[in-house]
Amino acid sequence: MIKENTSAFSLDIPKIMVSFTFHFYNQHMKHPFEQFNYCPQCGASHFEINDEKSKRCPLCGFVYYFNPAAATVAFILNERNELLVCQRAKNPAKGTLDLPGGFSDLYENAEEGVAREVLEETGLTVTDCEYCFSIPNRYLYSGFTVHTLDLFFRCRVKDLQPLQAMDDAAEVYFVPPSEINPEDFGLESVRVGVKRFLKI
Ligand SMILES: [Zn+2]
Repeated sequence: MIKENTSAFSLDIPKIMVSFTFHFYNQHMKHPFEQFNYCPQCGASHFEINDEKSKRCPLCGFVYYFNPAAATVAFILNERNELLVCQRAKNPAKGTLDLPGGFSDLYENAEEGVAREVLEETGLTVTDCEYCFSIPNRYLYSGFTVHTLDLFFRCRVKDLQPLQAMDDAAEVYFVPPSEINPEDFGLESVRVGVKRFLKI
């Protein structure tokens, strides 16, 4: 029966799927460019939804696609296998636990990005890093939902002496894995990443 239907409606299937996707999208999520009402190219006030991840200007034809921003997160262990955690100094999720990391800058690779963020937030120099996994996330900043793709790295550092909280980190310290509660981490992807790293 299913096979017959698939065959009979094969020409219509792509249309149905697109329409279903739009319907689901409209019911459950805001368009990522909801706050972008004007065409950035010609200034027209009809910057319209093109599909679930882009908008198009009907006047000048300008199309812009929304892609996730790359961000990095560091797992750093000391000689006792305790995990380095930070307390967030800023919103979103100010005061909750976090791991060192942040948005990638333009023109740097992820390895450079994670090393820069670790240095900025903890004073530690990364000597070696190894990619673990990635988790998509949404991050509310300045009233706008930024979609990110968080890349997790296991980082080794030169030495732990310079450790101090700086920049986005209010405090930095090591916690034994047995005392880590993932729910204390305020950002969803970091919470999931900590569980995955510690296999809990
Ligand atoms: Zn335009």
